[in-house]
Amino acid sequence: MRTFSEGHQFINGAYRVGSGASARRVNPAIGVAAELIDYAGTQDLHDALAGAQEAFASWSRLTPGQRSEHLLNFGRELAAMADELAVLETEQTGKTIRMSTEFDVPGTLDNVNFFAGAARHLSGLAAADYAGNSTSMIRREAIGVIGSISPWNYPLQMAAWKVLPAIAAGNTIVLKPSELTPGTTLLFAEAAHRAGIPAGVINVLTGTGPEVGEALVKHPLVKMTSFTGSTAVGRKIMAMAAETGKRVHLELGGKAPMVVFKDADVEAAAHSAVAGSTLNSGQDCTAATRAYVHSSVFEQFTTRVAQLMNSMVVGDPTAKDTDMGSLISFAHRQKVSSMVQQAIDSGARALAGGFAPELPGAYYRPTLLVDAAQDSPIVQQEVFGPVLVALPFNTEDEALALANDSDFGLAASAWTKDVNLAMRAAAEIQAGCVWINEHIPMASEMPHGGFKSSGMGKDMSSYSFEEYTNVKHVMLAHDVTAHKSWHDTVFLARADQ
Ligand code: NAD
Repeated sequence: MRTFSEGHQFINGAYRVGSGASARRVNPAIGVAAELIDYAGTQDLHDALAGAQEAFASWSRLTPGQRSEHLLNFGRELAAMADELAVLETEQTGKTIRMSTEFDVPGTLDNVNFFAGAARHLSGLAAADYAGNSTSMIRREAIGVIGSISPWNYPLQMAAWKVLPAIAAGNTIVLKPSELTPGTTLLFAEAAHRAGIPAGVINVLTGTGPEVGEALVKHPLVKMTSFTGSTAVGRKIMAMAAETGKRVHLELGGKAPMVVFKDADVEAAAHSAVAGSTLNSGQDCTAATRAYVHSSVFEQFTTRVAQLMNSMVVGDPTAKDTDMGSLISFAHRQKVSSMVQQAIDSGARALAGGFAPELPGAYYRPTLLVDAAQDSPIVQQEVFGPVLVALPFNTEDEALALANDSDFGLAASAWTKDVNLAMRAAAEIQAGCVWINEHIPMASEMPHGGFKSSGMGKDMSSYSFEEYTNVKHVMLAHDVTAHKSWHDTVFLARADQ
C-alpha cells in the first residue's frame, strides 16, 4: 500500500514533501499509528497556485472535445487503479472494503465518465435577436483557479465531485483534502497526470483547515472557493471569501428525515432505514437520521429496524463479511457516544446499540433511539454516526411539519404507495433531494446540494457547470448606424440636422 514517502503535496505534476508541520495519522480500525503526514507551507501554497494559474491559460482554451478526451483517458487510468484506491480508502477511513470497492470507487469512475461527456454539453439560451437589430448569445467561460476543500467521509468521491466539474469547464484547481485522509485524493491527482492532463491543472495541498484551508480561501489568486464539510466551517468560509469578494459553493451538513406514512411498505422502509443510517458508519451527509413513522406502524417499524441493526457485523473493515467498519477517529467516536448518552440521560431509549463494542478501533454499534424530544440535540444536530432516532406522528400535516422542523435541508425520503401523497411530500419537504420509497442512491446526471443550512450550489450533473462558469452575454449589432433610435431617449441628433 502507498505510504507517500515522496510527500503529501502534489504540485505541478510532482509529489513533494510540504514545508509546513507534520502529524502522524492513526489507522482508526486498529488504533495504531500509521504514516507521518507532511503539511503544506507558504511556499507550497504559492507554487501550487502559480502552477494552477499558468496551466489555466492553456487548459481553458482547449476545446470541450479536447478536455473530454483528457477525461476519458483519466477514467481509464483511474479504473486501472481501482483495487489500490479501494484498499487505501478503507485503510485511511476505516470504512468496509465492500463500501470502498462497490460504492466509492465505482461512483468516482462514473463521475469521471459523466463529466467526460458533460464537458461537451455546455447549455444556455439560444442565440437570437432578442433586442431587435442585434444578435445576443451566451458564452460560458471558465472562472480561473478554484480553491477547493473536502472532508474525510468520502475522500475519493469528494475529490471527484470538487475537481471534475471545475476542470471539465476549463478551470484549474488546488484542492485541500482533510488532513486525516489525503491518500486517495493524491492518487486521484496522480492518475490524472499520468493520463496526460497537464501539470498544474489539478494540485493537492495537504494540511489542516485553519492553516492551509484558510490561506487557500483568502488567497487573491483563487477566484472561487468550493467547499464540502460541516455547516460551522462552511459559514467561516463564506465570511472569509467575502473579504476578497470571491464566489463560494458550499455543500454542508445534513439531518435527513425519512417519513413513513401509514400505507408504507414497512419492511422496505425498515431495510432502507438500516442501510441509510449505517452506510459509511453513518458518516454520510444524506444518511437517514430522523425517522417519522405513523403511530399505527411505529412499533412494527422500530422492532424490525432494531432486529436488523442488531444482526449487523461490526469490526475489521478489511473482512468481506463485515457490515460496518470503524468511525473516522477516536475523537469522533467520543462525540457520537456523548451525544447518544446525553439523549439517553434526557429520557431516550436505545432499542439497538447505544454503545461502543470492545474492539481495538474506533467502532460504535448501529443505534436506534426512541422517546427523544423533537427539539432535543439528538434530533436537531448532526451526529454523523450510525444513529437513527424514530419518532411517531398521527397526521400527514404533522409528519411534513416535523420533517421540515430542522435547520438542515440536504435530503429526505417519503414512504407511501399513494402517488398523490408522494407528490405532496416531494413538493413540501424542504430539501435538495427527496426520495420516494428509497433513501441514499444518487446519479451523476442529477444534482446534489442543499437548502437552508445545508449549503448552496450543486455538485454533479450539468447544473454544476453553472457553479464553475461565468455566464457572459455577447450582443452583436447588425449594423453600424451612428445615431440609433434608442439614442434619442438620451440625446436628440441635433448636430446632424
Ligand atoms: P469539517 O468542516 O470539519 O472539515 C471539512 C474540511 O474543511 C477539511 O478539509 C478541514 O481540514 C477543512 N477546514 C476545517 N476548518 C477550516 C477552516 N477554518 N478553514 C478552511 N478549511 C477548514 O468537516 P468534516 O468533519 O471533515 O466532514 C464532515 C462534515 O462534512 C459533515 O458535516 C457532513 O455533513 C459534511 N459533508 C457534506 C457533504 C455534502 O455534499 N453536503 C458531503 C460530505 C460531507
